Amino acid sequence: MLPRASSAAEAAFARLGVPDALADRLRVPHREVSVQIPVVGDDGALRVHRGFRVQHSDVRGPFKGGLRFHPAVDLEEVRLLAELMTWKTALVDLPFGGAKGGVAVDPRTLSPRERELVARRWTERVGAAIGPMTDIPAPDMGTDAGTMAHILDEWSRTHGYEPRIVTGKPVELGGSLGRVAATGRGVVVALETLLDQRGLTPPSNGGDVAVAIQGFGNVGEHAALEAHLRGYRVLAVSDVSGGWLDPDGLDVPALEDALESEPGRQLADLDVAGATRIDATGPLFVDADVVIPAALGHVVDAANVDRLTAPIVIEAANHPLTPEAAAALVERGTTVLPDILANAGGVIVSYFEWVQGASLLAWDEAEVLARLDARIAAATRQVLRAAGEAGTLRDAAMDVAVRRVVHAMELRGQG
Ligand code: NAD
Repeated sequence: MLPRASSAAEAAFARLGVPDALADRLRVPHREVSVQIPVVGDDGALRVHRGFRVQHSDVRGPFKGGLRFHPAVDLEEVRLLAELMTWKTALVDLPFGGAKGGVAVDPRTLSPRERELVARRWTERVGAAIGPMTDIPAPDMGTDAGTMAHILDEWSRTHGYEPRIVTGKPVELGGSLGRVAATGRGVVVALETLLDQRGLTPPSNGGDVAVAIQGFGNVGEHAALEAHLRGYRVLAVSDVSGGWLDPDGLDVPALEDALESEPGRQLADLDVAGATRIDATGPLFVDADVVIPAALGHVVDAANVDRLTAPIVIEAANHPLTPEAAAALVERGTTVLPDILANAGGVIVSYFEWVQGASLLAWDEAEVLARLDARIAAATRQVLRAAGEAGTLRDAAMDVAVRRVVHAMELRGQG
């Protein structure tokens, strides 16, 4: 008996009538690599961590997905995230499949040297399974551009210099301009396309749209800045320390300047004139047109979903709504733009980075951003069109993605 795919994928297989012979190939990952990561710590003691790379599908192109360092990493979670990447790359029509990697380690307990060794040992152990036309890792939770630089260096020792082996690397080593802000920007472009297609007036046409954002990290901060620059009224933001509410709209660049004025500062450490303090969950429940959870998974659940009153929710984080909360919102008529679409900006610019690496030609930032906007807008329009048949935007997004993957399998004779 084969395992099941994620519930969202199984539901799409059923809606689309995907034959079992094809669905079975998507229920089991193409390949799973499980390794030991031995690292001699700064204290001289040897510690062994578990490391993984799960390659779900490469029917549309090389496997693609992040590498995370987190204590809760296990094979089951990495499997689910690898499958999610297959749908995400298909939905935004990238010539990639889906993969994910992880090391079960708390990066906050590692010195820079230890963190580098974890990245190098992981690369050494899974090295035969990854490659620029095979599987291309990228940063995820607990890893960053520096981690990608170490993977690039380790892999190049045995294979020669190859910038396409990772994306999300430093710009000085062939990373792409626009990569850091890409996910947050994509969130706002998807919102703008949604408003436009639903006949609502975005600020670019004089509309007043109030936005509240939970999370002020890579995704949340860039989404807040992009929204502010496009004329949205960003009335609430928060990070893990707490946040601020100003019904007239917060001055987002001023918040960023204040945070950067001292290393380690968080939103609760600031004093924001004219604004009221709120707690870390505050933005989810304020009176806004659009709520953007951009921090963690499962922040809205059956217990608090009644307090979320905004008519539009953009899932910038992965799985910010529990299935029960998502169902309650749909029931109430709330428009929910799903994560596989809303936060796809990062993997889109990863693809641009890979293309630039192949041609050894660096694009300027304006070109990267224009291409990003066009892809996110096109995918959003397509999902909105498909929702006419399927109902919710989440189902519609899954249907578009699954159809593309299944069609590629049929074309390749994998049925
Ligand atoms: P990050 O670590 O840069 O930022 C996370 C932010 O959330 C921080 O501001 C933190 O203070 C805040 N936060 C943490 N716990 C909180 C809490 N309990 N209440 C309120 N705020 C809290 O992470 P990120 O890269 O911005 O990622 C955020 C989410 O987006 C994650 O779910 C991630 O998987 C998803 N995502 C990120 C990317 C990307 O390109 N970075 C791409 C796709 C999906």
